[in-house]
Amino acid sequence: MDPIRDTLQRLRETFRAGRTQPAEFRAAQLEGLGRFLRDHKQLLQEALAQDLHKSAVELEVSEISIVQTEINLALRNLRAWMRDEQVRRNLATQLDSAFIRKEPFGLVLIVAPWNYPVNLTLLPLVGALAAGNCVVLKPSEISKSTEKVLAEVLPRYLDQSCFATVLGGPGETGQLLEHRFDYIFFTGSPRVGKIVMAAAAKHLTPVTLELGGKNPCYVDDNCDPQTVANRVAFFRYFNAGQTCVAPDYVLCSPKMQERLLPALQSAITRFYGEDPRSSPDLGRIINEKHFQRLQGLLGCGRVAIGGQSDESDRYIAPTVLVDVQETEPVMQEEIFGPILPIVNVRSLDEAIDFIKRREKPLALYAFSNSNQVVEQVLARTSSGGFCGNDGFMHMTLPSLPFGGVGASGMGSYHGKFSFDTFSHHRACLLRRPGLEKICSIRYPPYSPRNLRL
Ligand code: NAD
Repeated sequence: MDPIRDTLQRLRETFRAGRTQPAEFRAAQLEGLGRFLRDHKQLLQEALAQDLHKSAVELEVSEISIVQTEINLALRNLRAWMRDEQVRRNLATQLDSAFIRKEPFGLVLIVAPWNYPVNLTLLPLVGALAAGNCVVLKPSEISKSTEKVLAEVLPRYLDQSCFATVLGGPGETGQLLEHRFDYIFFTGSPRVGKIVMAAAAKHLTPVTLELGGKNPCYVDDNCDPQTVANRVAFFRYFNAGQTCVAPDYVLCSPKMQERLLPALQSAITRFYGEDPRSSPDLGRIINEKHFQRLQGLLGCGRVAIGGQSDESDRYIAPTVLVDVQETEPVMQEEIFGPILPIVNVRSLDEAIDFIKRREKPLALYAFSNSNQVVEQVLARTSSGGFCGNDGFMHMTLPSLPFGGVGASGMGSYHGKFSFDTFSHHRACLLRRPGLEKICSIRYPPYSPRNLRL
């Protein structure tokens, strides 16, 4: 008895029977997913409050409505996305039909992280179901309360013959990865991304890897410090900093740092009050292990704002570090917590050099009143996504692909990009059985006239 094998067998049979192909079936799954979100918002809110002390507003904007929007977009466009895409023909295929057919891959595995456990589990699911696949969903075991809701309640809203959840941590996921899938979509750390990719390689399974990294945030001298501080603080401390696209560190001149610090303090106080610990809007660190890791990072540089913590509550105050050296741990690993180091640079060139010496990040931010400065940062660097003069607003647009490059990942999704990610783009040419006379000029014995083909 191997329950995983049996589950996969069941899903494969569904796929082979063509059950997931019709648009009506796909739409019914998407509608089911939408109903799940509507019917159980309260349950999800309680689960996310337990896991991450997530506020109702953060839950709505970053977990529920973002998935709902994608479901609605997919439902509105499903038939258009599924339609064959006609392509240009050449002289030799002038009379034929040439098109790209979007086919589901088959059996898809989605492995999700804990930091936005509804969004990052269900958003890829929207694309996989819309594209007509069968899906095994592996939510994160670390966001325990949300995992329970996804495991116990969500399946009631989806067709059991094409969908299954598998629960567990690294051990169970490792076992799952020994099996053959037709596509693997992984969101998580670069370390585990490598494990997933190595396992996929054994079966030549294609992958999307949505990973993390350190997202630089360049702040030009020519900026209003309070506007920058509001925006940077909002996006850094959202979900207690546990966001893959959060600005990870600020690069600015010592002069700008001097103006930015009081502005950051003012933004933090306005957002979370004099005692951020009692704010209902500030999240908590997911678990003890991450709390200890972040606690260690508080020893880097010098604490300019915040720095307080309480282990019993996994609370870390919104913190800003200054006098940080490039070689310190806080500048080596992705912070993934409410800590913002400021690193001083003397010029735009130095900031760009600093960014380019490191792995390509998932997101990059540049603040300046000058379009040329923002454009220079954009033109001379590379990253998964980019936003000028704000935080991760670019990822709220389903019309933009979301994904990393280099060490921050490969592949992308959101909106139609999700549908395309979970579809094989089959190159099709339909020729006529007749007109053999014209075709025969290509056959041997060759002569110079073959070259004119
Ligand atoms: P993680 O890599 O530890 O875990 C992700 C998933 O992999 C979980 O479901 C977990 O059960 C599974 N897993 C863990 N260890 C495994 C192993 N040894 N073998 C097989 N599977 C294993 O990541 P996390 O801590 O859940 O999430 C944080 C990371 O995810 C950060 O690096 C963050 O930047 C990244 N992230 C990226 C995005 C994105 O969209 N690019 C979004 C959110 C988080």
